[in-house]
Formats: sequence, structure tokens, C-alpha cells
Amino acid sequence: MIVKNTEFIKSATRPAHYPEGNLPEIAFAGRSNVGKSSLVNVLVNRKNLVRTSSTPGRTQLINFFQVNDDFMLVDLPGYGYAKVPLAVKKDWRPMMETYLAKRRNLRGVVLILDIRRVPNDDDLQMLAWLRAYSIAPIIVVTKCDKLSKNERARQTAVISATLGVDKQDLTFFSALNKEGKDAVWARIDAALAP
Ligand code: GDP
Repeated sequence: MIVKNTEFIKSATRPAHYPEGNLPEIAFAGRSNVGKSSLVNVLVNRKNLVRTSSTPGRTQLINFFQVNDDFMLVDLPGYGYAKVPLAVKKDWRPMMETYLAKRRNLRGVVLILDIRRVPNDDDLQMLAWLRAYSIAPIIVVTKCDKLSKNERARQTAVISATLGVDKQDLTFFSALNKEGKDAVWARIDAALAP
């Protein structure tokens, strides 16, 4: 996809506030600090479209951005952010599950993982929801620049085994050197294809 224009549309916590219209959607999910904002900003060639989870506020909402006239990019709240009050944390589950279960426009979810970490329960919950609601998972393993080739191979085995997916289903990415940018777009384009 050639990104010409990306525009913030609105934030929402519940279906009544989701944008109207029937643009297809691709959502981005991952634990706080995983590199979600960095990935999105690289994809749409912007320095600061999406705020990082170190600035709470808009980060606990579902944020909708329109890309060209092609699709809606949906930034889901990062999970596991330590400084978020418990009441807000409790809202995360129903907010996420409602969006994933009810949103007809949703074509795929980019699940972002840190190459240095073993996927945790929240990551597995997210993947389980995607499977339960038949939403295509696009699994992006980011911060690849931080590991050597050998370490990458080892972590690839750990991550694919923990998730129960094929190694070929992982797309490797680095916001630092932009490795994998085209590969991530190819997966998004495929999920958007009618
Ligand atoms: P978010 O909370 O998931 O939106 O994560 P951010 O995009 O804010 O990234 C969290 C931290 O990881 C920041 O300090 C980023 O600079 C850093 N980071 C994100 N992606 C990469 C990457 O691909 N490589 C490296 N080396 N650092 C990254």
C-alpha cells in the first residue's frame, strides 16, 4: 500500500462511539512498550501519529485512524501498563472482547510481540480471541535489531512454540532499521483483499 494520507478520526470505548461507515479495519494490539506506536509510525511514514504508552490518556482508548480511502487503522490500548489504575485495567477485557466480537468491519489484527520475550497470558488471550472470532492474526515480532542471528533463531522457536503457530506465520520487524516493513504491509494488504 502507498500511504498518502493518515488522519485521526476518533477515540472510542464502546460500539456506539465506533466510527460509522464500512471501511475495512486493521487493528494493532500488544502489551505496553512492545513497540506498537513505533511500528504504526513506520508503516504510515509518520514520526508521531500514535502516542506511546508512556503517555497515558488516549492510550487506554480505541483510536481510529483513516489511511487514504483504503482502510481504518485501529490502535488498541496496550495491555499490562503498570501505572494504569486498576479500574481502567478491569475495563480492558470487556472493551477488547466487545470490539473483537462485534466489529463487522474488522479484517485482521496485528498482534505485536517483543522478540526478546516469551508471550504472556495477555498475548495468549488475544490470540485465543482472534481464533474464537475467526479474525486473521498477523503476528509481528518486533525489536529484531536487538538480537543476533543465533538469538533470533532461538527466540523464534520459543515464540512459535508458545503460541502454537508455524514459524512462517511470524513476520520480523524493526522500527530502528525498518526491516520487515514491506512484509508487514504485504500481510495487511492480503487481509484487506476482498
Ligand atoms: P508502545 O508502548 O507499544 O507503543 O511502544 P513504543 O513504540 O513506544 O516503544 C517502546 C520503546 O521501545 C521505545 O523506547 C522505542 O524507542 C523502543 N522501540 C520500539 N520499537 C523498536 C525497535 O524495533 N527496535 C528498538 N531497538 N527499539 C524499539
